[in-house]
Amino acid sequence: MATNELLPLYDTIAQCNRCGFCQAGCPVFRTTGSEHSLGRGRQAVARALILGHMELTPEVAHALEDCLLCRGCTAHCFPAIKTDETVLAIRHAYLKRHGQPKWQSFLFREILAHSKRLETAGRMALWAKRHGLTKLAEKSGMLRLVDPRFQKVDQVLPAMGGKGFLRGNQAQVPQPKEVKHKIGYFASCGMSFQFPEAVAATLRVLARNGCATTIMDNTCCGRPAHAYGDLDTARDIARKNIDRMGAEAEGLEAIVSDCGSCSTHLKDYGAMLKDDPAYRDKAAALSQKIRSFSEYLAAIGIEAPGALQGTVTYHDPCHLSNRFAKITAQPRKLLKGIPGLTYKELPESDWCCGAAGSYTFLHHEEASGVLERKMKNVEKTGAATLVTECPSCMMHLGYGARKNGLALKVLHVSQVLDEAYEAGK
Ligand code: SF4
Ligand code: SF4
Repeated sequence: MATNELLPLYDTIAQCNRCGFCQAGCPVFRTTGSEHSLGRGRQAVARALILGHMELTPEVAHALEDCLLCRGCTAHCFPAIKTDETVLAIRHAYLKRHGQPKWQSFLFREILAHSKRLETAGRMALWAKRHGLTKLAEKSGMLRLVDPRFQKVDQVLPAMGGKGFLRGNQAQVPQPKEVKHKIGYFASCGMSFQFPEAVAATLRVLARNGCATTIMDNTCCGRPAHAYGDLDTARDIARKNIDRMGAEAEGLEAIVSDCGSCSTHLKDYGAMLKDDPAYRDKAAALSQKIRSFSEYLAAIGIEAPGALQGTVTYHDPCHLSNRFAKITAQPRKLLKGIPGLTYKELPESDWCCGAAGSYTFLHHEEASGVLERKMKNVEKTGAATLVTECPSCMMHLGYGARKNGLALKVLHVSQVLDEAYEAGK
């Protein structure tokens, strides 16, 4: 039976001339060497599904799960085929026919779509990690009961020793001496629960640069549901966020997120809801307000930071790279503007680190191969600090540093700027 849901993609898929240039940019193919991991292989599967030469079985769907959705292939592809969109369409078609694992639909629909439940679940996860329950769940095999593919969750997660960032608590936001900009802050799940110290740095740096910041009343941006092909839930989450933030957003100059995946996904709300007459205009208006942290600061111009010592390098999160939001010059400009700091360019800086949301937990072997390549490149720079702008990357790169016994600090751009301002006091 042909997979008719994929028909709209046929013209795009037909542009694949099977040249294989995508081999050069696919981190998964460079690790596994399998044709099915490659852009070319994924287009061939999609074509076979459309023509009815292949059935959309669980085996076919599982074979496509190892895509990072990173567009490394697109950068090397003459017709610039967006393989991530092909893979997402297949995941969506599969989910429509066969459903998704219960834990997955529960997480997306019952937790991530509701800010209060998300907050409670995040705090429970923090508590579990702090008290060794994550390790216990992994060692006892309990996590594998949820999904047999779950691996190394406890090792990959950072220490998460703090209380987490209290989403919705405006009292914790530092205010500027002189208000020059009124902005909102979109609290990402990954930043709030895993890296609250980086969130605190983000808010201090924004205040230092004249921003009166309001914490938005948002839930998850919906990116996890989208990446798993649950596009209906991703659109529902987008509508919820528009309802929660829309009115407040109107009076704000911008809504800033320090998570590269969130900011890029929020910028896509307009496109995601373009066929929904009730939300189309509101979604487009919200998307236009969204800025990533570095993008916003570079645009308003920052106060001169103090001097720091040492060598830093920068890893481009996929969603901020030139293949997605194209926020690449701004973080480099901010880092290079810190006196005394030596900036070294990272070879293959925009190659995915292998985290890709929860990819590293479900495809740990492939993710580890991708991460090892990244860490070797980091070592080549001799940098003592690896900087990025995405909590998923921070988590995975920090794991890479621990796993390889490297004396390497992994920090958000905001943390380096915050240190520089502190040094300049
Ligand atoms: S999106 Fe990334 S992982 Fe997927 S085929 Fe392209 S390069 Fe490979
Ligand atoms: S580079 Fe593009 S056109 Fe060439 S094989 Fe890969 S996906 Fe097809």
